[in-house]
Amino acid sequence: MSTTTTKPEVLLGKSLTELTAWVEKQGLPAYRGKQLHQWLYQKAATSFQEISVLPKQWRESQEDSILGRSSIHHCSIANDGTRKYLLQLQDGLIIETVGIPTDKRLTVCVSTQVGCAMGCEFCATGKGGFSRNLYTHEIVDQILTVQKDFGRRVSHVVFMGMGEPLLNLPQLIPAIEVINKDIGIGQRHLTISTVGLPQKILQLAKYQLQVTLAVSLHASNQQLREKLIPTAKHYPLSQLLADCREYVKITGRRVTFEYILLAEVNDLPSHARQLAHLLKGFQSHVNLIPYNPIAEADYQRPSLDRINRFLQILKQEKIAATVRYSRGLSADAACGQLRARKLSTRL
Ligand code: SAH
Ligand code: SF4
Repeated sequence: MSTTTTKPEVLLGKSLTELTAWVEKQGLPAYRGKQLHQWLYQKAATSFQEISVLPKQWRESQEDSILGRSSIHHCSIANDGTRKYLLQLQDGLIIETVGIPTDKRLTVCVSTQVGCAMGCEFCATGKGGFSRNLYTHEIVDQILTVQKDFGRRVSHVVFMGMGEPLLNLPQLIPAIEVINKDIGIGQRHLTISTVGLPQKILQLAKYQLQVTLAVSLHASNQQLREKLIPTAKHYPLSQLLADCREYVKITGRRVTFEYILLAEVNDLPSHARQLAHLLKGFQSHVNLIPYNPIAEADYQRPSLDRINRFLQILKQEKIAATVRYSRGLSADAACGQLRARKLSTRL
């Protein structure tokens, strides 16, 4: 397991005020800060050469690495237009980012860590272990990369890529601020997905963000949850749900629950009824996610009939629920899978 010690001094992640101070230190007039800000966050410049408004001689004296951009190592495009990227960080590590277009939206699925230490049984990222937290600029970079590659503005961001966002709050919170203030995406268009860790949901609540919290539940009882999510042992379902209720109280925002459907494991009618009982009276929404098979585990995706039966039971019990099919199935289904395959075949 490698850890990173010193945070590199880079421009991405700096506010307009900070960029202005930086250009002035370089001997340039203050208004150059605004230009740099625009080229960084709106035009997603990856090199000084591109920033043609700035003096040529000065640009030539700068190292591009100080911009703080990652590079596209690989991109696969699915039939539905979803693009899955492997991005190479400046220290050579690889992360996965996904751009999901619809007519009205361009959503980016963002990673917050290189790998993940939670080790969930059904997750390609979890199976690959943990390397390090992402820095603020490496989180922000993913959105800019997708924005530039698609040539259109990103409208929504979901922190559902590699890693556990709540284990990287010191880098995630400033990243959210940059995404919000510098790139210009409203907080209500951001979703943080977490597997849930003791104290972390309440810690997040204190920031009073207007983002949506999605909690990966995946099981209707504690015993089953522990089988799927090893870290659930340290966080009883009753406490997790109590913390979610508190989150709603503090932020006034609804919580979404994610429930991955694994055939014969957690998709029985009895599980649906148990889940409904668990969430009764809770202002929430359940997202059912049919499992995307990964090479490292032998779970099965349930049939359409089983998926619909589960959904119908929740609806009968007055639990708001929808099925969310993963986009981009032809470009390596589940998050973390593309990276796992590419790294194992060394492409
Ligand atoms: N660590 C956070 C966020 C990243 S995982 C979390 O667990 O919530 C984001 C989502 O991808 C989670 O809901 C997770 O359950 C889902 N996921 C992981 N592997 C999957 C697979 N093989 N098929 C379908 N969804 C998967
Ligand atoms: Fe980590 Fe989320 Fe994957 Fe679990 S599902 S291993 S918490 S990324």
